[in-house]
Amino acid sequence: MKQTKKVGMISLGCPKNLVDSEVMMGLLAKQGYQLTNDQQAADVLVVNTCGFIDAARQESVDTILEMAQLKQTGKLQQLIVAGCLVERYQDDLQKEIPEIDACIGVNQLTDITAIVKAKGAKPLPIYSDGRSAPELFLYDETTPRLRATAPYTAYVKIAEGCDHTCAFCIIPKLRGVFRSRSPESILREVEILAAQGVQEIVLISQDTTTYGSDLALQNGLARLVEAIANVAGIEWVRFLYCYPTAITNELLRVVAEHPNVCKYFDIPLQHASARVLKRMRRGGNRQSYERLFARIREAVPNAALRTTFIVGFPGERDEDFAELVAFVKAMQFDRVGVFTYSDEENSPAFALDEKVDAKVAKRRERQLMKEQAKISRRKNRKMIGKRVQVLLEGKSKETDLLLEGRMQTQAPEIDGCVLINDMPADCAAQSGDFVTVEITEAQEYDLIGRII
Ligand code: SF4
Repeated sequence: MKQTKKVGMISLGCPKNLVDSEVMMGLLAKQGYQLTNDQQAADVLVVNTCGFIDAARQESVDTILEMAQLKQTGKLQQLIVAGCLVERYQDDLQKEIPEIDACIGVNQLTDITAIVKAKGAKPLPIYSDGRSAPELFLYDETTPRLRATAPYTAYVKIAEGCDHTCAFCIIPKLRGVFRSRSPESILREVEILAAQGVQEIVLISQDTTTYGSDLALQNGLARLVEAIANVAGIEWVRFLYCYPTAITNELLRVVAEHPNVCKYFDIPLQHASARVLKRMRRGGNRQSYERLFARIREAVPNAALRTTFIVGFPGERDEDFAELVAFVKAMQFDRVGVFTYSDEENSPAFALDEKVDAKVAKRRERQLMKEQAKISRRKNRKMIGKRVQVLLEGKSKETDLLLEGRMQTQAPEIDGCVLINDMPADCAAQSGDFVTVEITEAQEYDLIGRII
């Protein structure tokens, strides 16, 4: 049944939140609502927020306020706010931004059509402070989903929530306990996606390496990745967000043996100083991390190693930071993300002493990124003259004069890319095609080459 209302979706935050947005769009489209990318043309706007850290919260509030103005200037009738910010601040949001018509929690995605139809706030079930928690939600292969990614690539959420207790993190409070989808459901979804022309599957969750532990599956992630690698049409399988103490030899075997499993490991470590890791309540230590990466490099020699660190965590002293810098220099990671600590109320770290001055944290962030930029540039220079397989993604975001694509060792959105400035005159390669590129130049994070 065709609906008259046009609905716009703004998805903020991480790929896990993007999948939630895609589920809400799928449910709306199934009910006959038109989805639009044009916010000016939308009768209804849904802002799917991130509430993880300060900067993300600010971006979410700014976006909500910007969209609220369309009620005066545009044709907007209904403003709905969803996602992690709602889990944290629903009451404040509705009090401070009266233009918000309804809020929807991360476990209430299936209520979106009723809320759009009702054009009114559907009271949320009450929460832990004297209110009862809603049933935890996790989509499956039968849930309608309208993908927002390019046709050839798709995120697949294999689990939700988290049982770890990292001191700086409130995600377990927002997303609930860790729960896996069944391997059958995920495999069925991947088959459906492959039939739609998807070639790259990116497996995501809060902690992908814990996949299946709540279903009593042994080596759940390794089994799952191997099964997906055998699905016809899937050229690349990649998994993100690994916990450093949960990488098994079986997983390394699967990555090493299957050509279409990306030689790529994303393992956030957060720090290297034993004292800071203990205060962060993170598993492992510098020695176990060094052994882990030695194991990976032995089993999968050309694998790209990605990690992330937090600097400025309460109690981080100059010597702790110096140890982190020394660790990064010694490990020679391929990709590194660095964040400054965000003091989140309701996180265990909020109550810690020895808070680090924000300027000091910022300086440490710059210094660590500078070290990594040198490493990245040196590694990229070694790629010059090499011929690599590239997934072509279309015109470069920087200029129409260049095309861009990614290697197996470059994840979407978070890593550098391959810029293409030349190709044979008769080259008819399109976005979504795999091409062979000869690398001719190297930049800090991106590579430049020509299709051959
Ligand atoms: S593993 Fe730690 S940082 Fe990651 S979502 Fe869980 S609690 Fe947060």
